[in-house]
Amino acid sequence: MKNFRYMAGVAILKLEADKCIGCGACETVCPHRVWKVEGRQAVIVDYDGCMECGACATNCPVAAITVNPDDGCGCAAYIIQKWLKGEGSEACCGSNCC
Ligand code: SF4
Ligand code: SF4
Repeated sequence: MKNFRYMAGVAILKLEADKCIGCGACETVCPHRVWKVEGRQAVIVDYDGCMECGACATNCPVAAITVNPDDGCGCAAYIIQKWLKGEGSEACCGSNCC
């Protein structure tokens, strides 16, 4: 989704490429087309398009993907919690950037 952008270079999405079996689940479930599977290997093709929803990590059968606020800024995770749970229930990642 080229219209969605958050802050460049801060998404907490991580791929352990050596674990990937090329099943394509991440490409199928990602709402922002962040993934492409090329030659039985997942590739992040639009890192800054990630909204940190976690769908790819949840559906990866070999736990090759992590979307963990403890790994970085987590700002988008913070915003999503606010959307889903309501004002005041969100948790900050602790990096003091938001
Ligand atoms: S966390 Fe969500 S938006 Fe980000 S790559 Fe995974 S499925 Fe796509
Ligand atoms: S869901 Fe996991 S195993 Fe499947 S293509 Fe994506 S990263 Fe690879």
